[in-house]
Amino acid sequence: MAKKSYAVIGLGRFGTSVARRLHEAGQEVLGIDINEEKVEASDMYFTHAVIADSTEEKALNSVGIKNFDCVIVAIGNDIQSSILTVMLLKNLGVKNIIAKALGKRHGQVLESIGVEWIIYPERDMGERVANQLLSPNMLNYIELSKDYNIEEIILPSKMAGKNLRELNIRAKYNVSVIAIMRNGNVIVSPSPEELLQEGDILVTIGNRSDLALFASLK
Ligand code: ADP
Repeated sequence: MAKKSYAVIGLGRFGTSVARRLHEAGQEVLGIDINEEKVEASDMYFTHAVIADSTEEKALNSVGIKNFDCVIVAIGNDIQSSILTVMLLKNLGVKNIIAKALGKRHGQVLESIGVEWIIYPERDMGERVANQLLSPNMLNYIELSKDYNIEEIILPSKMAGKNLRELNIRAKYNVSVIAIMRNGNVIVSPSPEELLQEGDILVTIGNRSDLALFASLK
């Protein structure tokens, strides 16, 4: 993967997690926080971390904020600082801005300023937990649109030992299997003759209600 540069503004729990993961993946990461302790505590995780107030244009210019491929605004509780920061970034011509929103109103303001991607960590994680409680066989999912998902679903036991042709999952359940995960390997675009095994995880695509029905099979 090509190396990209990321600036993470706000090294709270969310910002630190984003920055750490990007750094682990070999990306160039600059952490920025107004709080000296946060910067010192995070030092070991990032390429660099600096103390700066992101609501000051001079501070953003001095770290060369315009040169980053992507800027993540991870300030949550201080809504005013979050909004001021995003407005400055927009004015400075930063292209890719991702911002965390605490709630709906905060998100709406960020949207109106033109933030490309707004994240609602609490809301999204809450929904994720509820969805997994409702559908224990569904391990992970990506929302493609309001109606369509890609989901990882544990193979219903009754389907083990059969191949995709006999199971006819697409016709019976309106769900397409795009990959099978087995013992850490991924079989992409599996052939109709592929024999399914107990413990297989099916990567499926389909309408949410069809996927929910499929994930409820035993
Ligand atoms: P979390 O819930 O992810 O821990 P917080 O909103 O509590 O998020 O933390 C946000 C971080 O943003 C804090 O570390 C805070 O010091 C930092 N922060 C707040 N305002 C600014 C600012 N103007 N410039 C830089 N960092 C800021």
